Amino acid sequence: MTNEPEQEPVCVRCGRPVVINRQLYAEVFEKMHWLCFHLEYEHPGDPDAPCGDPSCYLKTAQKKGSL
Ligand SMILES: [Zn+2]
Ligand SMILES: [Zn+2]
Repeated sequence: MTNEPEQEPVCVRCGRPVVINRQLYAEVFEKMHWLCFHLEYEHPGDPDAPCGDPSCYLKTAQKKGSL
């Protein structure tokens, strides 16, 4: 019985495993997390400050009131 675990894709930017968006990770996000891709290519300046992108993770986080 071969029950080998699936190869865990790893983000090239932070080195941590990619669990969510695994289908998109290779083709769309250049082997990064969505967040890592966003910070690398789309998020200028301070990573703690929201950028102009409406889908920026910080805007989402602030809407939830967690920041
Ligand atoms: Zn990452
Ligand atoms: Zn952003």
